[in-house]
Amino acid sequence: MPAKVVGGAVRIIAVGDELLEGRTADTNSRWIQQALGSHSVQVSLIQVVPDRQEDISLALDRTEAGDLVFVTGGLGSTPDDMTRDVVAGWAQVELIEDPSVKRQLKERWEKRGIKSSPGAVRQSLVPRGMTPLTNPVGSAPGLVGRLRDRMLVLLPGVPQELQGLLLPAVRWLEGNGALPKPRRTMLWRTAQASELSLVRSCSGIRGNFPTLDWSWWLTDWGVDVRLVAGAGKAGGGDLAAAGEMVDEILGRLVYSRRMETLPQVVQRLMLDRNLTLGVAESCTAGLIGGSLTEQPGSSGFFRGGILAYADRVKTAQLGVPAELLVDSGAVSEETVMAMADGCRKRIGTDYAVAVSGISGPDGGSPDKPVGTTWVAIATPSTVFARRYRFPADRQRNRLLTVAAAVDSLRRVLEFGDEQPPWQPSDSWCRPS
Ligand code: AMP
Ligand code: MG
Repeated sequence: MPAKVVGGAVRIIAVGDELLEGRTADTNSRWIQQALGSHSVQVSLIQVVPDRQEDISLALDRTEAGDLVFVTGGLGSTPDDMTRDVVAGWAQVELIEDPSVKRQLKERWEKRGIKSSPGAVRQSLVPRGMTPLTNPVGSAPGLVGRLRDRMLVLLPGVPQELQGLLLPAVRWLEGNGALPKPRRTMLWRTAQASELSLVRSCSGIRGNFPTLDWSWWLTDWGVDVRLVAGAGKAGGGDLAAAGEMVDEILGRLVYSRRMETLPQVVQRLMLDRNLTLGVAESCTAGLIGGSLTEQPGSSGFFRGGILAYADRVKTAQLGVPAELLVDSGAVSEETVMAMADGCRKRIGTDYAVAVSGISGPDGGSPDKPVGTTWVAIATPSTVFARRYRFPADRQRNRLLTVAAAVDSLRRVLEFGDEQPPWQPSDSWCRPS
C-alpha cells in the first residue's frame, strides 16, 4: 500500500556539525521547503543535529508514523557521514550493496582517473526497502523509501547535489502516493516595487477570489507574487480569472513569469537583439557588472565597466566635467547622465547603465538623505535618469540599486526608449 504522507507531517532533519557551529547556514531546508511549495504541504518541523549517531537516531525517533521525513547531510564518503548506517540501524534493516549504484560510482571514478576507496564503496550501500535515485551532480545517490511507516528521503548535504536530487525525489514521492497532486500555481517576479505596495494593489482581487492562496516573497531582485489554486474545479477557474487581473495590475513591474532571475532576462533580451552593454558604477562599485555576468554566455553582450567611486575617476575615465561635479554634486541627475553617456562612448557599447548614490550610513544631507540614488540608462538615441530614495541600510540600499538599475535596463529593452522606463507604481522612484 502506498504511504500517505498527506495525513502525516513533513519533517526535515539537517545533519552536520558545521550547521550547529555556525560555519554553514542550513540552506538545504529552504530548498526542500520550496520544492514542496506547490503541493500544499508545509514543513512542520526542522531539526538540526550534529554528526553523531545517537542524535540522528533520536531525531528519527521524534518523527511519527505517517510522516514524510527528509534527511540532508551525512551521505558522503568520510567517516563523519553516517546517515545511511543510522537509518538502517534505526529501522533494523540491513544495508545491501546496490549493483547499479556501484557500477555508476565506478564509472564516475574511472572517468576522473580515481581509484575507489573503502569509504567511497560505502556509498553503494542501500538500507533494505529503500530505492536509490541517481545523483546528477555528485557521487552519493539519494535514497527514498518507506521504513517504520515513515516515508524517508535521504539527500546529500552538498547544496548543488541536494538541488539536483530534489526534483527526482519529489517525482518519486508523487508517483508513490506520498504527496498530494501539485496545485496549479502562477508566478509573477517583480522588481522596483515594495512588498507592501504589491499587497495593496492586489487587495481588491484578493477579496474577490477567496479560494486562492497568495504569497509574497522578497528576493534579491524584488518581490515574487505567487498564486496557488484551491482544491477542486472552481479553484482552477478562479486562478485563471485572478491571474488576468494580476497581469493587468502589475504590468511592467513583472520581469518574468517563470523561475528565472532578472540578469537572466536581461541577458536574453540583449542577446536576442544582438546588443552590447557597459556599466559605470559609483556606489555599487562592481555589483551590477558582477550580477550581469553570473550567467554563462554573458560575454555575448557584456563588454565591461568602470568603477568610478571617486570624483577623479568619474572625470578621468568617464569624462564627467569637473565643474559639473562641483556644481551639481556626484549624486545628481547631471552627473549620472554624464557617467552613462561617457561609459557608452568610451567602452563603445549600444547601451550603458550608470549609478551614483549615497548608500549610508554617512554622507547624507537634508536635500540628499541616505538612500538617495540616481540611475541612468544610455541608449543609442537618448539618456534617461531617475532619482530613487531607498529606505534601508547600506547593504540593502546597494542591492536595491543593483535591482533598480538592471530592471530599468530590462524595461528599456522590452518597451523601447521612446518613453522613460519608470512608472508611478515604482516604489522608490522620486521625480527630480
Ligand atoms: P555532507 O553531505 O554531510 O558531507 O555535507 C557536505 C557539505 O554540504 C558540508 O560540508 C556543508 O558545507 C554542506 N551542507 C551540509 N548540510 C547543509 C545544509 N543543511 N545546508 C547547506 N549546506 C549544507
Ligand atoms: Mg556532513
